Amino acid sequence: MLRGMEDYIEIVGSDVISSIYKKASKLYDKNITNINSTFQGGGVAEILSRLVPMMNYIGVNAGWRILHGNPAFFEVTKKFHNALQGGNLNLSSLKKRLYLDVNQEFAVYTHLNHSCIVLHDPQPLPLIKFCHKRQPWIWRCHIDLSNPNKGLWNFLKPYILRYDMVIFSNESYKKKDLPVEQRIIYPAIDPLSLKNRELSKSDIAKYIKKAGVPTDKPIITQVSRMDMWKDPEGVLDVYMLVRKKVDCRLLFCYNMASDDPEGMEIYTRVHRKAKDLIDKGDVIFVIGNNDILVNAVQRFSDVIIQKSTKEGFGLTVTEALWKGTPVVASNIGGIPTQIKDEHNGFLIDPHDIKGCADRVIEILKNKSLAKEIGKNAKESVRKNFLTTRLLSNYLDLFIEVLK
Ligand code: UDP
Repeated sequence: MLRGMEDYIEIVGSDVISSIYKKASKLYDKNITNINSTFQGGGVAEILSRLVPMMNYIGVNAGWRILHGNPAFFEVTKKFHNALQGGNLNLSSLKKRLYLDVNQEFAVYTHLNHSCIVLHDPQPLPLIKFCHKRQPWIWRCHIDLSNPNKGLWNFLKPYILRYDMVIFSNESYKKKDLPVEQRIIYPAIDPLSLKNRELSKSDIAKYIKKAGVPTDKPIITQVSRMDMWKDPEGVLDVYMLVRKKVDCRLLFCYNMASDDPEGMEIYTRVHRKAKDLIDKGDVIFVIGNNDILVNAVQRFSDVIIQKSTKEGFGLTVTEALWKGTPVVASNIGGIPTQIKDEHNGFLIDPHDIKGCADRVIEILKNKSLAKEIGKNAKESVRKNFLTTRLLSNYLDLFIEVLK
């Protein structure tokens, strides 16, 4: 349910809310639409599902459209996603054709008469070529673009050149060879959504029990899509070292996004590798399609791990920090923007399994350390990574580009 802006006053203060209303009043006669490729699963859908209703609540007409892909298209765009984050790619003409055809077809019946268009990620990127452009178009790229596959970058660049602005989640993703204005906006979480709002101890216990998670041992958890960049197999390696020193369980809270066809394959691989530990009941998989369950898992866990090898920003990190649960996460991508090592969480080298395990062990053994870090963690999110700040950033941007 959408909360009124009034409900955020006690979290961020009344000045922030009043300034949001003031900014919104400059946009009453405008309408903005967002386009991405899934309404469920992954960080982009998470952000839009909160931000778009919020904009409408404050009087700014904002819409959200989903590009209609098909399985073959999503196979290709997931390969593109991986290659943009540094993976290999055989960029065949068939792949290019599939990618462009779906966008061209969608453009035929998608009429965009809005004041401003915000496109998210690479899937709908070429739409700009096939639509009649008569307003500012912004490409909002959520992934780590610091080291993209060259061939793919050269193929996509001509489409990006048509945009009025590009927004990244981190300074290091900016591209020197892209003569388009590039800005940074950090993502954010909604503190009042079902996923992030306060939960009573009894609600947490109820959801954990319902999910079949035993509560007799400490729990370390990674909440993530099943994706190679989230390195679930590495998480398992870490856990195998941790359990030698502390008797605990590992929980994978995972889901699949409709625009990500690789999830099942990764899931099967991790499941196979963990088979003995699953049979013992020490490694547990829980489907995280219920926001309150994810919330409960993030609160109940003794440590949250995010052992990604690439991470555009990492909302799962923000969510866990907000809940005051100790986080051990990779020092890559958007994660060090959120965590100052040993202040509000712990940064690890994702390729150093032992270093990561040692950190987890230390936290499991030292409750007062966990508590202190958790307090700082919540405060750091309150200051920097709540949707009210993100909303404010977008309002400023729209006021500027629609002047
Ligand atoms: N998520 C979820 N259930 C799961 C796993 C993930 O709801 O089982 C959510 C998670 O809470 C977060 C989003 O999916 O809001 C993932 O965003 P993030 O930026 O961490 O990664 P992405 O999937 O976009 O790469």
